[in-house]
Amino acid sequence: VTTYWCERAWLGAAGFVDGVVVEVDGTHITDVTRGAAPHGAEQLVGLTVPGFANCHSHAFHRALRGRTQQQRGDFWTWRETMYGVADRLDPDTYYALALATYREMAVTGITAVGEFHYLHHGAGGAPYGDPNAMGHSIIAAAHEAGLRITLLDACYLSAGFGAAPEGVQRRFSDGTVDVWRDRVTTLAADVTDPAVVVGAAIHSVRAVPHTDLGAVASALLDAPLHVHLSEQVAENTACLKRHGCTPTQLLAVQGVLTERLSAVHATHLTAGDIALLGNATCNACFCPTTERDLADGIGPSRRLADAGATLTLGSDSHAVIDMHEEMRAVELDERLHTQQRGHWTAEALLRAATVDGHRSLGFFDAGQIEPGAWADLVTIAAASPRTAGTGSDAETAVFAATAADVTSVIASGRRVELDTEGVGRALSDSISAVVAG
Ligand SMILES: [Zn+2]
Repeated sequence: VTTYWCERAWLGAAGFVDGVVVEVDGTHITDVTRGAAPHGAEQLVGLTVPGFANCHSHAFHRALRGRTQQQRGDFWTWRETMYGVADRLDPDTYYALALATYREMAVTGITAVGEFHYLHHGAGGAPYGDPNAMGHSIIAAAHEAGLRITLLDACYLSAGFGAAPEGVQRRFSDGTVDVWRDRVTTLAADVTDPAVVVGAAIHSVRAVPHTDLGAVASALLDAPLHVHLSEQVAENTACLKRHGCTPTQLLAVQGVLTERLSAVHATHLTAGDIALLGNATCNACFCPTTERDLADGIGPSRRLADAGATLTLGSDSHAVIDMHEEMRAVELDERLHTQQRGHWTAEALLRAATVDGHRSLGFFDAGQIEPGAWADLVTIAAASPRTAGTGSDAETAVFAATAADVTSVIASGRRVELDTEGVGRALSDSISAVVAG
């Protein structure tokens, strides 16, 4: 049993309060009280919040940071560069790259990651001896970095509304939805660690034929289900041409819209799409730093939430890994879009980055500092050059702090070593092994 004393901590509905004593037994919180620091308690000085949930990650995209930002073009030209890295990965190099990326996440206060995983197979699409070798590498990397992980195993069968996968895309495809389902149910059965959830993903309505959407959605009935949705206008246009409806409508008809679904991006939606996602109480996973980097557009976060959807957040391509930036970007993007301020409160954004995010990943007992929850405690400096004089409240955590202000991370009861130099070396080494030139 370890006792922590938080100088000031966020207790959800009670807000930020001074002097919080947190008892941790193993991986979970057993007691939360208020008061002075007990003798022998580990002191967490600053603002302590629950661990962040990074709900949408492609770990290998971290290798593209700084290497694609000078490009012209759009999402589709960026994707060609991304495919080049994908084609050079194997279970060993991916383990090293995912471990370095997850270590970067851990030192920023992320304690659980939703890994949207589609690079399944070897060269030309040939399965490895263990068809889940890549998935096991990613899970092992998260464990080593101290993160809980929801491996969202993505079904990818088509390069676009029936077109056959080409080149590296063949490594994403299981050929048929039945082969995908057999592989992912085997993976789910193999996993016994409570810090690991295996979920399913529809890569997109481009990549899974409409007749197979229901089979993907029903493969792991109790697990999270994620889908890339309407990130690009071109997807909507192609879907309308092929099916006479929007991607959201297509998912609705196939029974995919439920409360366990996370619609990732949800950028270019009609009013009808927003109503469908809201009425089904889906999660809408926004990835603002990637969406701005890829020139995707600004999604209707406020209207989705008003319709009944739950906002969650992810760093997706990892152009930036900083959940403070993801949180504030939701509000700041709405301001740019509407020329009005005050759409999202700081506390609502904190909920998106913590309790709501963890819940969308299948960790229902996480993201809150309360008895019974996973012991995730992230402490933010309250007197850094960025945070000093800001009032030490939710606005400090969301609108002032950056990832560099995180001074202590307890993840699933274990202290994360804030070895930023070591993380930097691990990133350099693992990235130089997989980038060209
Ligand atoms: Zn993505």
